[in-house]
Amino acid sequence: MNRIDIKSLNPEQLAEFAVENGLKGFNAKQIYVWLHQKNVTDFDQMTNLSKQAREMLKEKCFITNLEIAQKQVSVDGTIKYLYRLPDGNCIETVLMRYEHGNSICVSSQVGCRMGCKFCASTQGGKVRDLAASEILSQLYATEQDTGERVSNIVLMGIGEPLDNFDNVISFIGIITSKDGKNISQRNISLSTCGIVPKIYELAKLKLGITLSISLHATTNEARKRTMPVSNAYPLEQLMQACRDYTKTTGRRISFEYAMIKGENDTQEDAVRLSKLLHGFINHVNLIPVNPVDGSPFSQSDARIIKEFQSKLTQLGVNATIRRRLGQDISAACGQLRNEHR
Ligand code: SAH
Repeated sequence: MNRIDIKSLNPEQLAEFAVENGLKGFNAKQIYVWLHQKNVTDFDQMTNLSKQAREMLKEKCFITNLEIAQKQVSVDGTIKYLYRLPDGNCIETVLMRYEHGNSICVSSQVGCRMGCKFCASTQGGKVRDLAASEILSQLYATEQDTGERVSNIVLMGIGEPLDNFDNVISFIGIITSKDGKNISQRNISLSTCGIVPKIYELAKLKLGITLSISLHATTNEARKRTMPVSNAYPLEQLMQACRDYTKTTGRRISFEYAMIKGENDTQEDAVRLSKLLHGFINHVNLIPVNPVDGSPFSQSDARIIKEFQSKLTQLGVNATIRRRLGQDISAACGQLRNEHR
């Protein structure tokens, strides 16, 4: 018999499971609170359940837990974890400490199949999707390790969240549930390279999360060079999906633009970018691309980035240059895992 991944069950599914197995509805709530509020890692820690109930749970279910394979702490307080999954695969999680609270960057897949040329996570392709429990556990294990609460979540680690749609949506449901961490949807950002049909699907759910689009180029030609997803979904389709998303959800979209030397950083790019963003609440995050082993790209010069930003401002687009936390601890996501592999 395959045991059930109990941490991936939402409250309704857990209640159904409990009742089918001779427990009461309130037991389901007790179990849920242990798993999702108190971060327990073992059924024996669920001390308000009968011994018999705990034995049944052990027989039929398992609790996904992560092990810290490696941990790096930056001088600015940022912590990067390499977590080992139950099957031995590793993923990365980053905890960023801001004045307004702790923010966590979680992975959604082991590896990635999107193939962005500047990204370390995609080297070696996708191994598998993460279960909801494995995304949740990144936050729980980090809270356990630091003893600090996490209040903001960005789905920007290893993997393409919209390529693991159902599990990512389950994760959002559980992490925002009132008997779980009760994190507001407003405090969650999901970043995508632009899988157009999934953006429409996400829009239909009308979540209060922030959608973030990894744009990184202003023409199809240039975008195809660095982001193969553009072959399937050209910029026109992507921007149309973004317009639909804003209209359907009433939520603003944030845009990311990695500045790559000689690739996407001309004044003409700035003009085209301002046109692409026309009609959105114009804001773009400029990110000096992180050099990655095995990738030919390097960061645009600081002066070029400043000029790019000025041009955008002049054209009415509010652009910020991303402040990098954890500069001293192996940089872009995917690198720690690659070193480990
Ligand atoms: N697959 C999703 C989320 C993971 S990547 C996405 O593409 O959005 C998170 C962000 O980091 C994306 O904007 C991605 O393009 C960016 N990124 C990847 N490699 C980078 C690098 N070497 N330097 C700077 N940003 C990078």
